[in-house]
Amino acid sequence: MTRIVIVGAGPAGIAAAEVLCAQGYRPVLIDEGHRAGGQGYRQPSAGLTLDMRRLMGGEAGKYEAIHARFDLIEDKIDYRPRTLVWAIDGAALHLLSDGRVDVLEADTLLLATGAMDRVAPVPGWTLPGVLTLGGAQVALKDQGCLIGQRVAFLGSSPLMLLAARQYREMGGEVAVVADTTPLGAKAAALPPMLRAPRTLLRGLIYMASALQAGTPLLHGVTPLAVEGDGHVEELRLRDSSGRERRFACDAVALGHGLKPETQLADLAGASFAYDVDFRLFLPRTDGFGRSRPGLYLAGDGATIGGADAAEASGALAAHAILTDLGVTQDVGAVRRAARKVARLRSFQRGLARAFAWPVAQIRAQPDDTILCRCENVTIGAVRTAMAQTLGPVEVNRVKAMTRCGMGRCQGRVCGPALQEIVAGMTGDEGRSAGRLRGQAPVKPIPLTAAEGTAS
Ligand SMILES: Cc1cc2nc3c(=O)[nH]c(=O)nc-3n(C[C@H](O)[C@H](O)[C@H](O)COP(=O)(O)OP(=O)(O)OC[C@H]3O[C@@H](n4cnc5c(N)ncnc54)[C@H](O)[C@@H]3O)c2cc1C
Repeated sequence: MTRIVIVGAGPAGIAAAEVLCAQGYRPVLIDEGHRAGGQGYRQPSAGLTLDMRRLMGGEAGKYEAIHARFDLIEDKIDYRPRTLVWAIDGAALHLLSDGRVDVLEADTLLLATGAMDRVAPVPGWTLPGVLTLGGAQVALKDQGCLIGQRVAFLGSSPLMLLAARQYREMGGEVAVVADTTPLGAKAAALPPMLRAPRTLLRGLIYMASALQAGTPLLHGVTPLAVEGDGHVEELRLRDSSGRERRFACDAVALGHGLKPETQLADLAGASFAYDVDFRLFLPRTDGFGRSRPGLYLAGDGATIGGADAAEASGALAAHAILTDLGVTQDVGAVRRAARKVARLRSFQRGLARAFAWPVAQIRAQPDDTILCRCENVTIGAVRTAMAQTLGPVEVNRVKAMTRCGMGRCQGRVCGPALQEIVAGMTGDEGRSAGRLRGQAPVKPIPLTAAEGTAS
């Protein structure tokens, strides 16, 4: 029987595995996490008991349901937790699991690798105590700890209000929720968001609960700096009326929405196109998740859509796989899933405008702001390298000249901001800056693993 491999045990990967199991297949489901659920439905580390009902709030029902559904299929699939896919070479997936390397051949590959935070650098963002917004949530759900006792949430993301609520709920204090997008832009983005009224309502409830708790909730801010002596002590910003304000805090959760984890798709041969709403290069797929023959993409790893869209798109991609294998599918189920994915992804386009990537703020950053924290490259170094270069400049060339994006994270963190700086200097909308090419290893691994002798 054909070997179907799914990478990612979030809602997209789980839903895909369910459809495949229901039709007699036994897919391999790989995830680097120790337990299934992905990012949004992350479970606490083994041995740790957390009040997940309280933490998940209105999402508790969905959280419990996805884990119950996974329990039902676990013995019907070849589930490989704690396994990182660090490279793809043709049909071969290079794996690292508990320090051991392995190679797995896939006849059909479904990548459901989810997303990660997108961050816009500000002066002081490399101080200890600044974490990404998603990192702040991972600390809470995975380890049961807060990133600080008094946390400032900075950026532009619907997850800021959710995370602020979770932090309050778990005993933390919220210094401020400071959103870089003006309130007017949120109002203008309302029409497409009415396509998912329940999700919209949930956002409004989070906003109301922040106001009720007395949390300062600012829109249209310009971050000036995160400051402190060796550790975060305060967030300094300019509010929408132009007044400088300071918020004492011991941690900052920084996030400007999410970006798909596309490195594996890149290595597997997906093609990419620039998306003007997300201001990112996204992998191309047809409406069912097909990328190229034998390669399928689903969930936030294809395009940001949220957990419900991820689940529906995972099921849809599994139906596409089965169709391509010659197995007749229930047309009604496929159509329902396709409609759901289209509706929810259109909602996310509205969100991308309501919580905008702060292009002008990134381009206006002073020269000494660090852009690439792995290699300690400043924005000024990138500007200087570009000014000294003749001919067309795109991000991979700037990477070679400055080492920006050449460190441990391979540009996964600094890539989007680098793209804006480069595009800003070439006077373009974003597209001509190009995208950093995916490189193996997609995440840091021990050198011995790359040599095939990890112990
Ligand atoms: C840090 C973070 C926190 C979030 N918190 C929330 C939240 O609280 N509420 C909410 O509504 N949404 C949240 N989201 C958004 C949420 O991720 C998505 O809506 C949803 O989980 C997408 O589902 P998915 O199946 O596409 O991907 P995910 O749920 O992200 O699952 C992808 C899985 O792929 C695995 N993976 C990725 N790359 C590899 C690799 N190379 N090798 C092996 N495994 C790999 C990951 O470990 C992960 O388990 C969060 C996102 C992030 C990044």
